[in-house]
Amino acid sequence: MSRTNLFDLDLEGLEGFFAELGEKSFRARQLMQWIHQYRVVDFAEMSNFSKGLRQTLSDKAELTLPEVLHEHVSKDGTRKWIIRLSCGNSIETVFIPEDGRGTLCVSSQVGCALECTFCSTAQQGFNRNLSASEIIGQLWIANEYLGKEPKGNRMVTNVVMMGMGEPLANYKSAVSAMKLMRDDLAYGISWRRVTLSTSGMVPMIDKLREDCHVSLAISLHAANDELRSEIIPLNKKYPISELLAACKRYVDGHQKRHITIEYVLLEGINDSAKDAQDLMRILKGLSTKINLIPFNPFPGTSYKCSSKKVMVRFKQQLIDGGYVATIRRTRGDDIVAACGQLAGEVQDRTRRTQRLNIEKGVATI
Ligand code: SAH
Repeated sequence: MSRTNLFDLDLEGLEGFFAELGEKSFRARQLMQWIHQYRVVDFAEMSNFSKGLRQTLSDKAELTLPEVLHEHVSKDGTRKWIIRLSCGNSIETVFIPEDGRGTLCVSSQVGCALECTFCSTAQQGFNRNLSASEIIGQLWIANEYLGKEPKGNRMVTNVVMMGMGEPLANYKSAVSAMKLMRDDLAYGISWRRVTLSTSGMVPMIDKLREDCHVSLAISLHAANDELRSEIIPLNKKYPISELLAACKRYVDGHQKRHITIEYVLLEGINDSAKDAQDLMRILKGLSTKINLIPFNPFPGTSYKCSSKKVMVRFKQQLIDGGYVATIRRTRGDDIVAACGQLAGEVQDRTRRTQRLNIEKGVATI
């Protein structure tokens, strides 16, 4: 009989697990604290469990996390961990320290099936979804590594699901992991500081609104369907009007919610004054913050990043139009850790199957 990896379970899952053992539900909360807050991964050390319970746990459960293959530290303090999975593939997780906060960029899949033309993860193809333990394990590992540093080094205060993969195509595991991020007895991060970024899987956005309270970011990158479908093929299935309608539903009834609009600036493709105007027109009435992303090049791409002058002009046009707009600072590019540069090592690229599943609407819910 295979053992249950307790890192795969959120509070509800752990309560179910302990109920099956005939244990009280508060055991689930105790275990959650041991493994996520104290980072204890040996049942024998869990001193508030009886000897008998510790033995049962060793028989029926395991505490397995992926392992770190390499740690790279950038000149600007950004760190990237290459994490090896049991299947032999590896994924990448990036920590970005800033004044007063530390943001962890977490991967949700090995590779990606979406084939966005400007993203290097897409070039790797798709291998498989990460389990909840492999997603939350990235946060566990980051805290463990950062905790070993001399005092003064910050821990993770914010998480962005913006690493490799499309988190809404791996819905169940992504939501379990985000529930743990939010849970006070695990990582206790406020919903404002947990951000899920999606290229626009509309039905899953609606489901997320019901299931897990987090901040939402949309990889929009174009203000008309013709261009968006060209650079983000998923747009053919969920065009801009449907995507923005889902965003409206997501913020509706939540006064403090806004949608982060991600817009990667590609020279001569989506960076004209008319593009900025069109963007403002389609976002009218939606509570947004626009995050302009300088395009990060990768081998083999023909896209170029817009010039500094064009980026600043684009941003100013949005601000003059009454929108909140910022330009994302590129971090960690010397260790190939910037947006769209995460590639890991993906074996067995089967993106076609996954893409077909997404098109048929049967992707991994
Ligand atoms: N699949 C999700 C999560 C990835 S998030 C999504 O699409 O939102 C990574 C962010 O970086 C997305 O906004 C993505 O569009 C952007 N990105 C991808 N490639 C990039 C590149 N080469 N340069 C800059 N940003 C890029």
